[in-house]
Amino acid sequence: MKALHISAECYPAAKAGGLGDVVGALPKYLSRAGMPAGVVIPRYQLSWIQQHSFHTIYKGVVRLHNQYVPFTIQQESSNALDFPFFVADIPGKFDRPGIYADPGGYSYGDDVERYLCFQQAVLQWIVNSPGRPQLLHCHDHHTGLIPFMVKHCPEYQALRNIPTVFTIHNGVYQGAFSWNNLYLMPAFDAGARGLLDWNNAINPMATAIKCAWRVTTVSPNYLKELEQQSNGLELLLQHEQHKCTGILNGIDAQVWDPEADPFIAARLNGKLDAFKIANKQALAKHFKLDPKLPWITFIGRLVGEKGADLLPGLVSRALHNGLQAAFAVLGAGDPGLQDALRQLSYRFPGRFDAALEYNEGLAHQLYAGSDFIFMPSRVEPCGLNQLYAMRYGTIPIVRAVGGLADTVPDIGEPNDQGRGIRFTHFDLDDANLALYRAVQCYHNPEVLAEVRERIAALDFSWEKAAAEYIDIYDQMI
Ligand code: ADP
Repeated sequence: MKALHISAECYPAAKAGGLGDVVGALPKYLSRAGMPAGVVIPRYQLSWIQQHSFHTIYKGVVRLHNQYVPFTIQQESSNALDFPFFVADIPGKFDRPGIYADPGGYSYGDDVERYLCFQQAVLQWIVNSPGRPQLLHCHDHHTGLIPFMVKHCPEYQALRNIPTVFTIHNGVYQGAFSWNNLYLMPAFDAGARGLLDWNNAINPMATAIKCAWRVTTVSPNYLKELEQQSNGLELLLQHEQHKCTGILNGIDAQVWDPEADPFIAARLNGKLDAFKIANKQALAKHFKLDPKLPWITFIGRLVGEKGADLLPGLVSRALHNGLQAAFAVLGAGDPGLQDALRQLSYRFPGRFDAALEYNEGLAHQLYAGSDFIFMPSRVEPCGLNQLYAMRYGTIPIVRAVGGLADTVPDIGEPNDQGRGIRFTHFDLDDANLALYRAVQCYHNPEVLAEVRERIAALDFSWEKAAAEYIDIYDQMI
């Protein structure tokens, strides 16, 4: 194992969003390209982890102020993920039924302690392991203090020359906490205190940007956007520009394969049109929508970042004005928004339906059976939904931000390379116009077939992104 990925999520063991997808796929493709990589995440009380067998490879104790927290590092025994997969079992901290929140949607209140324990458990294990990885790749703020700890905590001095890469999957969540929690930190060189600080708080994401050898974002455009707007990190990112690279995520072509996907009702057998119709009909058993209409689907966390708050106003306006389309939503999040969406399904039976849950299988079925995927995001670091959708011949309707701008040229552009429908402003008028354009496109069979064929043939596989990461690793190792 040359590279060790340290993360809060890894599909299929633990996934809440795109972070899980990336960390579950990238190491596989790195290993295939000659850069053996493994992953370590916390041990949650989640079904995949409970259904697989793990053996303990390290036992230790983390000190958290005056508390001693025992932990074990365990390795999955059957190599089910095609790469070495480890969990840090820290009783009392992560043995819970959710990753970030309990199943009722309430966030756990002890993230500072939890992630400090996790990061130190991993470092202690690495320091004491004979076959150390040559590089640490940390993902998002949950692991953002690691590049600092290896350089400035005497306990991990043996790792001070180990290269660290930090990937920003989502700059909105920075993990900042008050200096009042300083007593929870492991001992560090007093002179390094400034590296922890950003806006009078300890900010793990800012610290990682300062201390990691290299920083990556999950799309080139997102890096540019972060330099202009990133909740207070703009100047820091501009200053550290020389070590930052935007690398567009890939998709795991094995997991998202319309010809072999075990979740969907009908597999692709050459004929895209028949594939779409069969899956839409099967889906109509779950979503009470008219299959003769174009289906416009939203999948994602019901939060402001994803623009989910636009949905109730937009859908009621469009349907009220007679738009001939049906809307499906799969998502969980803001309870107020969930209520608003529930009400829409009562108001517009047959035209709007929502599954207000997290359901991996249903997401696959929706990518296969929908005609359009709707992504009115305010912020979109990369966006994987549009990539999955395109692979299944589903046309994206996107607001042109972040990775959406990188991956979805408009079908109205003159070079005939369009992949979807774009709109610019985050408002009802612009989004509404995009919906009308989608319905128009649906009723033009020639254009519809051509765009579907084009997007389903695109190659967003991880090989290209893995090669870019390897390039960065090679410069450091
Ligand atoms: P983010 O990580 O910001 O949530 P991404 O587009 O990078 O957004 O990744 C979202 C991933 O989570 C996709 O794999 C998407 O299919 C999945 N997803 C989001 N919400 C749900 C849900 N309610 N049920 C199933 N899968 C979901």
